[in-house]
This record gives sequence, structure tokens and C-alpha cells, in this order.
Amino acid sequence: MSFSELGLSDQIVRAVTEQGYSTPTPIQKQAIPAVLSGGDLLAGAQTGTGKTAGFTLPILQRLSSGANAPQSNLTRRPIRTLILTPTRELAAQVEESVRIYGKYLNLTSGVIFGGVGINPQIKLLKHGVDILVATPGRLLDHMQQGTVSLEKIEILVLDEADRMLDMGFIHDIKKVLAALPPKRQNLLFSATFSDEIKTLADKLLNNPAMIEV
Ligand code: AMP
Repeated sequence: MSFSELGLSDQIVRAVTEQGYSTPTPIQKQAIPAVLSGGDLLAGAQTGTGKTAGFTLPILQRLSSGANAPQSNLTRRPIRTLILTPTRELAAQVEESVRIYGKYLNLTSGVIFGGVGINPQIKLLKHGVDILVATPGRLLDHMQQGTVSLEKIEILVLDEADRMLDMGFIHDIKKVLAALPPKRQNLLFSATFSDEIKTLADKLLNNPAMIEV
């Protein structure tokens, strides 16, 4: 089984191949077709399994094809995909993956997290990106200041959802969810499944595909 057999475009496969990856990992084999299908996903996966590429590759594919695909690099973009992560390190890492895997596509990405100045982020959000990676607290700051618009979100990812809950982000996450358009694709990744995660998954996901590695 190769990345192109999973349904990924030549541009994406080329970027992945350049990273030295020729075979999808077990989570990628399951997650990539599930995300490409447009449905919701509940995935049990630890770090180190290749989960980041498992959701970024099919998201890049979905955003770069179809009716809303951007026609040029220059136009101002609404945010179409929001990826929430528990820490700034993970946010930066995920956004770097988006950049690497999307290098042959006409898509833009950005990252926002706390502990650094807010002004460069305001500038970034004003310009707009197709894919925004964020930590919940700083995203909420932007929402409260009116410096981010989430009304065109098509895909939401909660990455390491269990860690986000452990860190006390549930209230922030709920406020973010309330600001999103109801019709969207939701992907939830978690290494563990406490009752709290199950409650969140029940609330968030519609008839999700379930995978575990
Ligand atoms: P993650 O679980 O997303 O943190 O990824 C763990 C590591 O696996 C990262 O360093 C990736 O670059 C790497 N990786 C992702 N996909 C593959 C693959 N198909 N083959 C080999 N390594 C990969």
C-alpha cells in the first residue's frame, strides 16, 4: 500500500516522498481514506505513530481540490481548517508538517499560541490563512478581541484531545466549538479515552469512523 494508492495527489505524494517516507504507517492507512471521505473521525493514537501526517495529508488534499480550492497565492483567505493542540511546541510542529507536506500546493498556513506577542498574530490573521494551528487559550484571546473569524471553518481537528482536557482547556474548547459553523468535518485524536473524552466525542462527532492503533 502506497500513499498514492490511498488517494493522495501527486503533489502531496512528492512532498511526502521527499521526507523519505514511502509506506504509510498503520494509522495513516486508516485515517487518510476516512478523512478523504469527508466524515468525522475518532482516532486513538499515541505520538510517534505518524498521526500528524495521518490528518494533515488528507486535509491538504481536501482543501486543494473541490469548489473552494484557492486559485492564487495572493488573495486574502478565510480560515478553512482549524487544528487545536495542547502546547505551543506541538502547534509549531504540526504547522511545520503542514508546510512541508503542502509545499507543492497553493495553500497557506499559520500558527498562534500564547507566551509570545499578539501583534504579529493579529497581522497573520488579518491576512488570512487556509489552515490555522492554535492552542485554545490564545485562540480564545483572539476571538474575544475580534481578531479572528472562524465562520468559514470546514474542518476541525482536536489533536491530543486528552492532553488538552488534562491541561484544563475544556471551557476554552467549548467556546471555540460554539463559534464554528455547524456543518463541518470533525477529527478527534486522543491517546487515551476517559469518560470526559467520550463525552466530548459524543457531543462533537457525527457518526464517526473509529480507528485505533
Ligand atoms: P507523529 O506521530 O505524527 O508525531 O510522527 C512521528 C514521526 O514519524 C515523525 O517524525 C514523522 O516525521 C514520522 N513519520 C510520519 N509518517 C511516516 C511514515 N509514513 N514513514 C516513516 N516515518 C513517518
